[in-house]
Amino acid sequence: MRASNPKRTKAAATQRPNRLGEKSEMLASPWKSGPSGPRKPPRLNEGFSPGGRNSTGKPLSPQPANGPTSPQNIARFRQALLSWYDTNKRDLPWRRTRDPYAIWLSEIMLQQTRVAAVLEHYRLFLEKFPTVQNLAAASQDDVLAAWSGLGYYRRARMLHCCAQEVAAQRGGRFPETAAALGELPGIGRYTSAAIASIAFGEPAAVVDGNVERVLARLDGKSASPRQHWDRAQELLAPSRPGDFNQALMELGATICAPREPRCLICPVRSLCATQGDSPRAKESAAQKKKEVWCLFERRNGQVRLVQRSKEASLMAGMWELPQSELSRGAATRTPWRTFRHSITVTNYTVHVMRDAKRKAPRPGQRGKWIAVENIPALPITGLTRKILRADGII
Ligand code: SF4
Repeated sequence: MRASNPKRTKAAATQRPNRLGEKSEMLASPWKSGPSGPRKPPRLNEGFSPGGRNSTGKPLSPQPANGPTSPQNIARFRQALLSWYDTNKRDLPWRRTRDPYAIWLSEIMLQQTRVAAVLEHYRLFLEKFPTVQNLAAASQDDVLAAWSGLGYYRRARMLHCCAQEVAAQRGGRFPETAAALGELPGIGRYTSAAIASIAFGEPAAVVDGNVERVLARLDGKSASPRQHWDRAQELLAPSRPGDFNQALMELGATICAPREPRCLICPVRSLCATQGDSPRAKESAAQKKKEVWCLFERRNGQVRLVQRSKEASLMAGMWELPQSELSRGAATRTPWRTFRHSITVTNYTVHVMRDAKRKAPRPGQRGKWIAVENIPALPITGLTRKILRADGII
């Protein structure tokens, strides 16, 4: 039966995802400090400072007052960026297809999630649901189970809902324009432009966190979100919009990194107003820390799991190991294993007990004994997956 189509929220309509997947690779830099202090930069970078200046304080190359503004400079910018992308782009599976379903899936998975974490999920998800019709016909539990480990499960629910709408009302075909794509559940401005440009060649620019940073440095000024969208549209190469969009994001992910832009090897350096000499990106908000205890009980080929409330704000309806109700002294006992796990802005230290002496479980924490072979088909939380993997159960 087709699920109801939740009304798209205003937030979804103006969505600007932060593609952490791209950001994760920014941290790999030759100038990163080592444990014994700052590492000496390699010879190629002698005299380089992240501020885009050499050791005497002069810019790396003459800096234009603005980024590319004349038609000639905009053409140079497009050409330099696309040539660099053609030679240097990472070989990612969603870059080998024009199938809007596969591109849509990759774009949703990459929101707030690292490329490395997405790769295997993307492959398995497409294996399990090779078409939008397959995805639409699946149960929500099956979809959540395939999504398990990627986090931000609302994305999976919206993905499912969108697939059902495309299958039921559009004959399984995605619309071909950004405007029409933006009408679908869970597809905001960024995602609709990404699908339209990459799958259908529509000249629609995208702006994510990487693009914003590149544009601010390129032009040497901060700008409002609307100005960023206008500027990205002005620079977009109309002959290759999908490649151009991906090239600009790739530049932000691998060269124009937040902390240490690699201006020396940047393909558009001669057109850049700052060459890295811009105010530092704000540090991300401080993460909270929390310590929790979990119970991992196994008997007769079964594991006890509890289901989160359907109304929970996070991971609603998913299955997980019960949190332990330890007596006071029990917390001082050595856990079976300790895991680190992050959810949104909280870093958890999770101690897992296997033989804890518990009080009677709270109502709602009794859970169910689930046969080990049935667990892979259940939507389980990322933390539970991590723990069960460590035991070799899945
Ligand atoms: S666009 Fe290129 S030159 Fe400009 S700050 Fe970024 S990496 Fe440096």
